[in-house]
Amino acid sequence: MSTNETHLQQADTLLAAMTLEEKAGQISQYFYLAGMSAQAEFVEAEVRSGRAGSLLFISDPAETNRLQRIAVEESRLGIPLLFGFDVIHGLRTIFPVPLGLAASWDPELVERVQGIAAREARAVGIHWAFAPMVDIARDPRWGRIVEGAGEDPYLGSQMAAAQVRGFQGDGIGTPDHIVAGPKHFLGYGAALGGRDYDEVNLSENELRNVYLPPFAAAVKAGAGNIMTSYVGTGGVPGAADRRLITDVLRGELGFEGFIVSDASSVVDLTTHGFAKDDLDAATRAIRAGLDMEMWFGLRFQEGMIPTPGVGAFATLPDAIRQGLVDEQRLDEAVRRVLLLKFRLGLFEQPYVDEGRAAKTLGLPEHREMARIAAERSAVLLRNIGSVLPLDRSAVRSIAVIGPLADDKQATLGPWAFAHDLEATVTLLEGMQRVAGSGVTVAYAPGVPVPTRVFPSPFAAMEQFVGDTSPQAALFDEEAEFSRAIELARTSDVVVLVLGEAADMNGEAASRSTLDLPGRQVELLEAVAATDTPVVLVLLSGRPLDLRRAIERTAAILVAWHPGSEGGLAVARVLFGEVAPGGKLPFSWPRSVGQVPLIYSHLRSHQPQTSMMRYWEEESTPLYPFGFGLTYGEVAYTNLCLHASAIGLDETLEIQVEVQNRSSRAIEEVAQLYLHQRYGRAARPVRELKAFQRVVLESGETRTLHFQLDAAARRYWSSAQNTSVLDASIFDVWVGGVSTASLHAEFTVQDSTGSFLSP
Ligand code: BGC
Repeated sequence: MSTNETHLQQADTLLAAMTLEEKAGQISQYFYLAGMSAQAEFVEAEVRSGRAGSLLFISDPAETNRLQRIAVEESRLGIPLLFGFDVIHGLRTIFPVPLGLAASWDPELVERVQGIAAREARAVGIHWAFAPMVDIARDPRWGRIVEGAGEDPYLGSQMAAAQVRGFQGDGIGTPDHIVAGPKHFLGYGAALGGRDYDEVNLSENELRNVYLPPFAAAVKAGAGNIMTSYVGTGGVPGAADRRLITDVLRGELGFEGFIVSDASSVVDLTTHGFAKDDLDAATRAIRAGLDMEMWFGLRFQEGMIPTPGVGAFATLPDAIRQGLVDEQRLDEAVRRVLLLKFRLGLFEQPYVDEGRAAKTLGLPEHREMARIAAERSAVLLRNIGSVLPLDRSAVRSIAVIGPLADDKQATLGPWAFAHDLEATVTLLEGMQRVAGSGVTVAYAPGVPVPTRVFPSPFAAMEQFVGDTSPQAALFDEEAEFSRAIELARTSDVVVLVLGEAADMNGEAASRSTLDLPGRQVELLEAVAATDTPVVLVLLSGRPLDLRRAIERTAAILVAWHPGSEGGLAVARVLFGEVAPGGKLPFSWPRSVGQVPLIYSHLRSHQPQTSMMRYWEEESTPLYPFGFGLTYGEVAYTNLCLHASAIGLDETLEIQVEVQNRSSRAIEEVAQLYLHQRYGRAARPVRELKAFQRVVLESGETRTLHFQLDAAARRYWSSAQNTSVLDASIFDVWVGGVSTASLHAEFTVQDSTGSFLSP
């Protein structure tokens, strides 16, 4: 018997011994809120009685083992718990935020990063990450754009698959790895107005061609879990959308893992005005194909202190007894969860070795990878007069200015919970370490760390915010402002670190503008007025409005929220120890009024007139998708297609030469874009179809090869209600940005010369 068959048999034996209540409990996941004793006691009692199969949000191995002991030794069947956690960009070692990782355009790096995150997580007893977030995000007002890979389905798919491989290793059960849970199925990123949790309306064209591909890639890479979305794509909430989770995810994509709801979103089916009560909610969610309910373990009532309580799935035994739900459907969900526990080896070894954490967390090699990841994520937007890299022989004094320059929390960004704040290297510390003895580095924050107008709803949960900025307590605004300007005036160069505080992006962190918050623009203008060259370093999880900044700066480097070693990484980039090579994973708008703005849009008008879609602003982005400079000139030449005409199913080989014309080693991301001129549906003006990040030595020319297979041309056509391949003429562009001009074309023919697809 194969291992799989053995596991299945073991799961079925156990299933046969379970009561309806135990079955419903096995697919109920509870938050464990250690700081809230009534809730924690309640959850422990549920575990003891076999009515909770999984817990979330514990990262202390001793605590994990204590709770696991209750499940294994005190519950009737002794089924071990599955522990989940938001391992978004590291556990103890924090890597750049996912949007930054995507800006590396380096899937191999991202796979290694999530492999380390998995190792650290497993060492404290975590089995499952609620990650990667693979939602396409085209509206930067939405705070969760920071958690994904940006606007593009192809880049998003590459990052999704890489992260799944990183978390899971060779598959579920790989030692030192954890289960990946791509989320949020489907379309959460398209929230109206960029307002988190607001409604989503997606056309079938967008749903299929834009929002679905990263999930398809994650499923193909073997993801063990998928999380549904809080919202629905048109009136049917994600947790109960039978068409999406059963027909599309299971049927079309062939997903075999288990599907979990987002936090409390089964109970919230009533909030949506969709379900009548918990019984109706649980019935419709499980019938739609949901396998597990994630639940706060708290009931909220207007004006009252939340009280511990069960979720909607606790009504499933009643739903079965009343004939509302088929017990086989319940068994199917429970079997999936049990099977996973067998595959993870939890029945043999439910406990974590408590000594392992100390030997695994924050290891020097993990931190080194965090530094490398931050270096590769950095995107250079501007470098006038080659102010960068900083030249130690010309620059003797550096003023590091700005409220985020020494803010550890902003260096880490949102979705970091089990980190070591003290060990976080800020920009200031990085500059001091890298500058060397001949260069003085002085610091002035200038203005206080900006704060939200409405505090984060997570502020109560200390680990979400925790303001640690040294100047937060007592800040003499006028004196500090003048001190910063004086420092700028008397220094050779200013490194101005501006952007968003950690709680300004992430969940429930949507914005109505993209302005630099607080008094940061004022600071920038005053610093620039000193005439000392300004290198602006942006810490943020979204594009910001740079209209008032751009002309006043000599250079702009986007560092995102770069993680535990972020300051060191950025300093090394600024001093040229390493050349920047990241590229934007989204189109950087000029102003919030342009949002949403995407490079892969459809065209309906002559190009000349569509340039004028606003009468007071360009329609183009400030910086296009795929843009990013390096310390030197890169040239693309000799684009060559191996055939000028191919058949519908054939692969086209493409090659191009890329040359580093500078006198130093650099890194470049070569990007290939495609356009179909006509077909059964109109296709975007350009779409990314391939990319390669390459290292080029000084003066080196490399020939890059791309394979463009039929899948790269396949798309979902609303007219046919299926995916198609068209015979057509195609344009290809290759270069270092989505506006690349090096062009070639080819024809795709079928036997009849019509649009028929196989
Ligand atoms: C978020 C999920 C997250 C979950 C658990 C929810 O509010 O939408 O992405 O995994 O909380 O923390």
